[in-house]
Amino acid sequence: MAQIRTIPQSTQANKGCGPLIDPLSDPSRPLRQQIFERVRAVGQIARVQLSKELGISPASVTTITSELIESGFLEEVQTLRDGESSRGRPAVALGVRAGTRHVVGIKLSDREHTAVLVDFAGNLIAGEAIERAPGALEQDALLDAAAELLSRVCAKGGIEPDTINALGLGVPGFVDSEKGIVHWSPVLIERHVDLATALRARLAVPVVVDNDANLVTLAELWFGAGRALSDFAVVTIEHGVGMGYVINHRIYRGARGMGMELGHTKVQLDGALCRCGQRGCLEAYVADYALVREARTALNLTHKETQSVTTLLESLYAHAKAGNSAARSIFRRAGRYLALGLSNVVNLFDPQLIILSGERMRFDYLYAKETMAEMEELSLDTGRDIPNIEIHAWGDLLWAHGAAALALHEVTERLLGSSREMAAQ
Ligand SMILES: [Zn+2]
Repeated sequence: MAQIRTIPQSTQANKGCGPLIDPLSDPSRPLRQQIFERVRAVGQIARVQLSKELGISPASVTTITSELIESGFLEEVQTLRDGESSRGRPAVALGVRAGTRHVVGIKLSDREHTAVLVDFAGNLIAGEAIERAPGALEQDALLDAAAELLSRVCAKGGIEPDTINALGLGVPGFVDSEKGIVHWSPVLIERHVDLATALRARLAVPVVVDNDANLVTLAELWFGAGRALSDFAVVTIEHGVGMGYVINHRIYRGARGMGMELGHTKVQLDGALCRCGQRGCLEAYVADYALVREARTALNLTHKETQSVTTLLESLYAHAKAGNSAARSIFRRAGRYLALGLSNVVNLFDPQLIILSGERMRFDYLYAKETMAEMEELSLDTGRDIPNIEIHAWGDLLWAHGAAALALHEVTERLLGSSREMAAQ
């Protein structure tokens, strides 16, 4: 239970003031990592441009890029000078030596498992999707599924699985990414499972895990609309309501890695029952199961229609489109609660952009004009426009792409980050 303590004013001698930052806990990234990441971010860049953009002397850029070329991270590429015709003398730029390292991103979900294989420059080499029967799996079965996906996607891409440099794995639920522990997931029967360690032992590949909302956010940050933004939110609506938040180009995870549970913020005291066991959570009004719960009561549906969530939601949507007032009111109510949730995000974080993502985004009632107007009304009037809202309906491999970004980050940190120096000491 939360405790509120009264802390007496200190009468001790002055011990200084200002944030006590442990110098080793947040070292700035080494120059070689900054250079490599800049090259990867822009694709191709000349040394002189790197020097300008990063504020590093040309001599340092020459020395460090030589080292990066020698160790197989970068390579020289011929490129045309700006404005020159194809007959012009080619200039030399730097690019990532894409094929020297590979990572795999896997998303395990209730309906299908997906995987992508990407190279070190982030190019997609192969993708794979396996449909599955819904329901939670035992840990061993989940590990089997990940192993099968890894071997299938590697076979498709012509890469040996044991040469993969890292595997990023995403599951829905409560995940402590830093420790690799899945505390609860609808795809896993056991609780508090150290999935990263178990999978690493099984596959002999470094493994990083995260929850699915963070994966969508990483996909936007690495490959999508969030690449050029420092602060933005991604809200996902499917089985639950999730959120990923980027602060200063980094995913924010909370002190214990479990923050940003927008779906379980309360929008009504003693309100609708949520699958987390509490009442009045946002997702108890907006998520699939909330719509289904209402639909079963309000609509006169046949037994066949109530068999699957997807079929039922499609039917509800069709009824709403056809003018059925009960069906319309269900979407309208969900939309109003979504507006409330989004306005809370705006009032708390002031993001540049909110991206709405997920399969449910097809149900345009959820983000209809009225919903957006309501959100604007509930957001503080600061005299500025509210942030842009974009709807992104990505393909099946979106989450797996985010998992691959997680793995790329891990490999880059391991091979070029400051932890490499610390490990060598
Ligand atoms: Zn809840």
